[in-house]
Amino acid sequence: MLTRRPILVLIVAIALAAFVTLITALVMQQMRRDALAQARAAAYNIALLFERDTERNLELYDLSLQAVIDGLDDPRVAALPMEIRQSVLFDRAAMTKNLGVLLVADAAGDVYYDSRRHTQRHLNIADCDYFAAQHTSPHTGLFVSHPFIPGNGPTEMSIAMSRRLSNPDGSFAGAVVVTMRLEYFRQLFSGVDIGTDGVLVITLADGTLLMRRPYDPKLVGTSVQGAPVFQRIDHEDSGGFFANGQVDGIRRWYAFRRVQGFPLVFSVGLSTREIYREWRLRAWFIGALTAVLDISLIGAGVLLARQLRQRAALEAELRAQAGTDALTSLANRRAFEARASNEWLRVRRTGSPLAMLMFDIDRFKLYNDRYGHHAGDGALAAVAHVVNDYARRAGDCAARFGGEEFVLMLPNTDEAGARAVGEQVRAAVEALAIRHEDAANGVLTVSVGVASTSAGTFVSWGDLNEAADAALYAAKRAGRNRVVAWQPGFAGAT
Ligand code: GH3
Ligand code: MG
Ligand code: MG
Repeated sequence: MLTRRPILVLIVAIALAAFVTLITALVMQQMRRDALAQARAAAYNIALLFERDTERNLELYDLSLQAVIDGLDDPRVAALPMEIRQSVLFDRAAMTKNLGVLLVADAAGDVYYDSRRHTQRHLNIADCDYFAAQHTSPHTGLFVSHPFIPGNGPTEMSIAMSRRLSNPDGSFAGAVVVTMRLEYFRQLFSGVDIGTDGVLVITLADGTLLMRRPYDPKLVGTSVQGAPVFQRIDHEDSGGFFANGQVDGIRRWYAFRRVQGFPLVFSVGLSTREIYREWRLRAWFIGALTAVLDISLIGAGVLLARQLRQRAALEAELRAQAGTDALTSLANRRAFEARASNEWLRVRRTGSPLAMLMFDIDRFKLYNDRYGHHAGDGALAAVAHVVNDYARRAGDCAARFGGEEFVLMLPNTDEAGARAVGEQVRAAVEALAIRHEDAANGVLTVSVGVASTSAGTFVSWGDLNEAADAALYAAKRAGRNRVVAWQPGFAGAT
């Protein structure tokens, strides 16, 4: 089948190439998904560890605040001398990592306990947000402040946590405050593998940036409220999404996580370029291999198809040559017989008439004798050309039947039509005016015998052919250069 339809070979090759490409594309897509899944898991895990560590630490801070509140409430502590009282109140807290300062202020914001015992300077914190928050509402609970540089003591960016002090009647009695250096987060962030373009960020829930890696002191305290994480944090405590970095525009996959119980949000961003780096390298490699494979497949298909086509053309030519007469280029007798028997089957099916015309050149032996065999060949070709001119419709077939005899088969032609065509051929040959001094009228002529199934009953195409031959014989006898149609009663008639 493939040898007869070279285009199929090409289609199969292209289909194979498309299939290979499709499979490769699917595999590569899966690999890409896997790369993202891995990065996702890593980012989630980092965020989770940060959250755990921070949560535990802040709880310790809160416990320190509670300890101070409890201590202040304790009349035994109040009875102690100032120096010892300070130790009792603050020593537990002082052990906490990264702890800055512990302060206790009265309702007016005046600090009356300070964990830095040496500080004697008067300090008022009434304007600070961590004090004001406790002042305004008795229900604030633990308050986490915006970052600030403590004016009095270590000049490192810090945040403060505060709790309210209440009088026995519930009225505002001041606040306990503990500060925490943001250095804590910087240490937390250091050493975590986030690639070269990754970011780690911790913000307050309102979008105030506390720490970022890569570290940029200018960014601490600024608001990144517009960052996409804040569109989500309202509905989710943790999640992930693709976004372009607010600060550097780098596209990343972000995992975020709220710290349980505190208004803090961690974001871990891994750059998509880095997430897909390995995958991209492999994709290029596999893609190139697939391209080479596809090109080879299609190339092989093209070559094979071309070879098949050439072979088919060669076979067709050989077949044509086998069925063609070399001198006249008409169909030869064998080819004609094949056509005639096919046509005969069709005629039997459809019942339409079939006509057969036989031509024989008059006195051709004499022509050869006088003008030579070579000239005879030329005359034969000229007559063949005329006969072939009248094979005009599809299904018509002109052939060289023998030496100087030709046949013209005309489907769907009755006897009258056949006779008319025969007459036209005869006249056209005469009009060629090929000089033939031994012929009756000085030029080369043909005699024509005609038979059509419309004029009798014939059992086979051979039968019809013989009838035409009988008519031709009659034409010869009647004086040549004429058309005679077969009549019942002619030799060979049934
Ligand atoms: P008639 O009018 O009765 O047909 O006379 P005729 O001479 O044509 O007689 P016939 O049909 O028997 O002659 C056939 C001649 O045709 C014999 C042969 O020399 C010539 N002939 C047959 N084939 C060829 C050919 O291929 N080339 C040439 N030049 N002559 C051929
Ligand atoms: Mg003859
Ligand atoms: Mg002849």
